[in-house]
Amino acid sequence: MRLGQYQTTATDDPWCGVSTEAGVVDLSTAGSAAGVDVGPRTTDLLDEWEWRRKAELAVEYAAETGVGVHDYDDVERAAPITDPGKIVCVGLNYRDHAEEGDNPIPDEPVLFSKFPTTVTGPGEPITWDPEYTEKVDYEAELVAVIGEETRRVDPEDALDHVAGFLVGNDVSARDLQHGDGQWVRGKSLDTFAPIGPDLVTTDEVANPHDLDIWTEVNGERLQESTTANLIFGVDELVSFCSRAFTLEPGDLLFTGTPPGVGVYREPPTLLEAGDSVTIGIEEIGELTNTCAYE
Ligand code: ZN
Repeated sequence: MRLGQYQTTATDDPWCGVSTEAGVVDLSTAGSAAGVDVGPRTTDLLDEWEWRRKAELAVEYAAETGVGVHDYDDVERAAPITDPGKIVCVGLNYRDHAEEGDNPIPDEPVLFSKFPTTVTGPGEPITWDPEYTEKVDYEAELVAVIGEETRRVDPEDALDHVAGFLVGNDVSARDLQHGDGQWVRGKSLDTFAPIGPDLVTTDEVANPHDLDIWTEVNGERLQESTTANLIFGVDELVSFCSRAFTLEPGDLLFTGTPPGVGVYREPPTLLEAGDSVTIGIEEIGELTNTCAYE
């Protein structure tokens, strides 16, 4: 399943829908007609016991009856998750990125966080005040979405706790990030976590550790790698996090970025108003956002 969130008008709350050939199935509407209560938001769905089966029943009912099916032209996309409980990020997690900077391969993941208010959707602008930060950068990342409450899980079982994957851009204000001594402010400006377009459930991803990943800014390819270069895989990261704290449905885990970020290029390629940034991950999708000054 490809789970997204949509709006019927610009002012209504986003609702969780599934992409189908007939259109977008509003899971909450189709589900209640079919006798299974889910939604309205993606996080509400993921909170449900047996949410996969419930979503499938709603989609089957919609296919048979047309209930809850919207034409793609009649809806706007929002971020597939707009209210994550937390966003956990991993630093320096690509072998080729570590080698590029002559950094040693870390023994354990280095975790940091972005505040949930950073989340924005596909097609929405990445915005900042150019007097507040002058060094805004992109980071292509595979993002794992937690599908059930998880505490002290072994790596062998960890992927069972993942709902699916989406494309993320860990937008970073490098001057704030590197000036502060720790990273949370530079990583947490509003709109600095574009995600989407869909949450692709794990059953549709053959191997999350063998996916091409890239970034293009104004059509120029600036990052290109594969998740085969991840130092710590999604299973190890989920296990590692769950030894420290409880992961909850809808939590986002940004798994790190490959080489080619703007700040380390010669000359540096930092983002400016009007720039279009597209992050792509094989099998998951492409996420495009345009930059604007506040
Ligand atoms: Zn990152």
